[in-house]
Order: sequence, then structure tokens, then C-alpha cells
Amino acid sequence: MNADMPRWVDFHCHLDLYPEHRAIIRECGSEKVATLAVTTTPKAYPRNVEFAAGSPFVMVGLGLHPQLVAERADELPLFEKFLDTTRFVGEIGLDAGPKFYASFGEQQRVFSRILRACDERGGKVLSIHSVRCVSKVLEQLEQHLRDGRTTPVLHWFTGTRSEAKRAASMGCYFSINSEMLRSPKAIALIKTLPIERLLTETDGPFVLVNKRPARPVDVPGSVTALADTMGLSGAVMASQLLKNFHSIM
Ligand code: MN
Repeated sequence: MNADMPRWVDFHCHLDLYPEHRAIIRECGSEKVATLAVTTTPKAYPRNVEFAAGSPFVMVGLGLHPQLVAERADELPLFEKFLDTTRFVGEIGLDAGPKFYASFGEQQRVFSRILRACDERGGKVLSIHSVRCVSKVLEQLEQHLRDGRTTPVLHWFTGTRSEAKRAASMGCYFSINSEMLRSPKAIALIKTLPIERLLTETDGPFVLVNKRPARPVDVPGSVTALADTMGLSGAVMASQLLKNFHSIM
């Protein structure tokens, strides 16, 4: 096996929000966890690129988090400036929760502009937030991703079975975290997802494992739980997840 071949995948982690991010990047290398470092503002992107430089296991996503759109929409030109330097985009999306609903109109405007910019360039892989508005997110993907060369990954998906089916038919992947694998409702939904569209994520440091922030090296625990959910052995599940990851790389 190639020395740089990943063994595990963390497709949504906020590496820059851990004080010890340099140590975590080293762990990604030693445990071979391919990690997508999502960012929440375009301003944070260059710093992330800098600390991930030289680590073959860390990819950096260019993001503009829907929860920050109210204050950061003026960074859109910066987003478009950096977009040609990366294949990975995230965290982006929409949030219709009560705390962020006031900016929902602005969020939709920003999200559609980001999607159109990604569609124009082609080949981008997106990590997408869709709290309380899955159908709205899918509608936008349908409307703006016209050429089929963009891969949407729905992070922490909480939609219904029929929304999941619609997302899968549109080519979406789903990144699953440990919190979802502790929720009976999420587990019931995960069982209905196509196995070839599953990825793993930590969403650290927001998700906790054993009362401390999850780290990319915690992914093997989720793979075991996901294997149980899908009725597979841990080894079969792990190799399926790697296959899925390579299919979008
Ligand atoms: Mn996140």
C-alpha cells in the first residue's frame, strides 16, 4: 500500500478551531486520516492552507458558513478570488434555525452565488450545511449545479427519508458523524442511505466524544458504529468508505 494512502476519512472538521491544530495535523498523518479542514470565512482560508501545507492527508475547504453570512457576506469577492486555488468548498449552505432565520434571505443569495461560481469552474466538492431547510438546499443545488461535475456532500444531514432519496438521486453524498450515530432517529435514516454515498466526518470541535472535542483520529469509532448500523463488518465498512472517498477525489 502506498505510504500516503489514507485508512480513514474525516470529511468535515474545523481544524482551525482547535488550539492544538498542529498536533492534530500530525495525528492525521500518523494515523492516515484524510481530513477535509472546512473553514467558516474566506478570510480564514489562507491561514488554513498555510498550516496544512506539506501534509498529504489534509485538504482545505474554502467556506462561508451560513451562520456567519449576516456579518461576512462582504467576503464574497474574497471567496471568488480564492475559488480557483482549491477543489474543496465548505462549509457553505443554509440554516433556517430560529437563531439565524433573520439572515435567511441573505443566506440564500450568498449560497446561490457560491453554487453558480462552483458550477462555472466545475470539479468542485462541496461540504454543505442544511439545518431545517433540506428541501430549500436541494432546490438550489438542482437550480445552480447544471453541468454535473460538482459533487455535493451533505454534512450532518437531518432531512426526511424522501429528501434523502431525492438528494441521492441528484448525486449527493452524506457525511456521517458520531453524534448522528447516537441518535435513533438519525440511525433509522442512515439505514436507508445508499452505501456507496456514505462518508465519515467528525465536525470537531463541535461534536464531542467522551466529553471532549472529537478529533479526526476518532473516526474509526464511528466506522464501527456505522458498520453496525448498516449490518456490515468493520473491515467491509472501512473499505467501502475509502472507495467512496476515492470516487470523489
Ligand atoms: Mn461544521
